Amino acid sequence: MFIKQIGIDLGTANTVVFVPNKGIVINEPTVVAVSLDNNQILAIGNEAKEMLGRTPELIKTYKPLKDGVIADYKITRAMLKYFLDKALGHWRLVKPDLVISAPCGVTSTERRAIIDAAHESGAKDVYVVKEPILAALGASIPINAPAGNMIINIGGGTTEIAVISLGGIVTWASIRVAGNKMDEAITDYIRKKYNITIGERTAENLKIEIASALPTKDKQEMEITGGDLTEGLPKNLTINSNELAEALSPVLKDIIQAIKTVLSETPPELVADVMSRGMFVAGGGALLKNIDELITRSTGVPVYIADDALFCVAKGTGIILDNLQTYQRTVINYK
Ligand code: ADP
Ligand code: MG
Repeated sequence: MFIKQIGIDLGTANTVVFVPNKGIVINEPTVVAVSLDNNQILAIGNEAKEMLGRTPELIKTYKPLKDGVIADYKITRAMLKYFLDKALGHWRLVKPDLVISAPCGVTSTERRAIIDAAHESGAKDVYVVKEPILAALGASIPINAPAGNMIINIGGGTTEIAVISLGGIVTWASIRVAGNKMDEAITDYIRKKYNITIGERTAENLKIEIASALPTKDKQEMEITGGDLTEGLPKNLTINSNELAEALSPVLKDIIQAIKTVLSETPPELVADVMSRGMFVAGGGALLKNIDELITRSTGVPVYIADDALFCVAKGTGIILDNLQTYQRTVINYK
């Protein structure tokens, strides 16, 4: 069977590829490893992420998307081509149509870069759709209804918050505070409190395994290894989930503040809808333990974690592909 349509969630942390009738066919980190002496790409995705923080001098690992947009064009193009080849196989009789996500605040130049990279990677028609729209669709929110629906997508680089009604975004915010900032906050906290440095992957593991958005009675613990800053030697250390809640608190405050700002800018009728329907959280950050409880406590609005939070945007691309007519107005660019 030849694949005629494909959806891509080009995230700062993860790239997810969706194929109609098949589902999610690729889910890999948005990381590329390059050899510095001849500029050749050595590895992409999972294999490249394994190399993060472990590269010798002549290898560099890139995360080619910053804040949801293409920061390194050539590398992004190579990566897109790699993922398309992997999803489509080498036998391509027809070029596929492509739905691809872009952050809310994407500029026309950035949009151009996404479209060009997709064409050069072998796509035919390219449809760019704003990420909150895709996240909402993937979370089964009826975005075309005449009612306010709020979606909060916490990814690696950005948190995008939007109120959607009648298929369009009414109010929104995009802040550069999300999963990566949480990892940094954990690293800083441990350095200050214990004088120990830890790697990016250790910080992320702590967050995923035991961190919580709120302190809890039954705290969880995890043993990690870091480098002692005074002696310069490796050292083991046990960290608990309540320490992580404290470390994450400033980052989570920024996210809450952005949610409150969007609510305050939203017309009253739509706020009433959000109050009764609740807010939906998607993206990897939605999986942080107790994030729903924290947002509800801070805003007074019920909060639901979307099913398959990490895959909402990719699933949304599939829904757009199946219903291009219905969602005509939500596609921001097409060529
Ligand atoms: P993006 O769309 O920017 O690629 P994703 O939606 O794929 O981002 O989410 C990736 C982020 O989610 C990363 O920062 C990752 O560490 C974080 N993440 C994944 N699982 C969890 C979890 N269980 N708890 C907290 N954060 C998580
Ligand atoms: Mg995303």
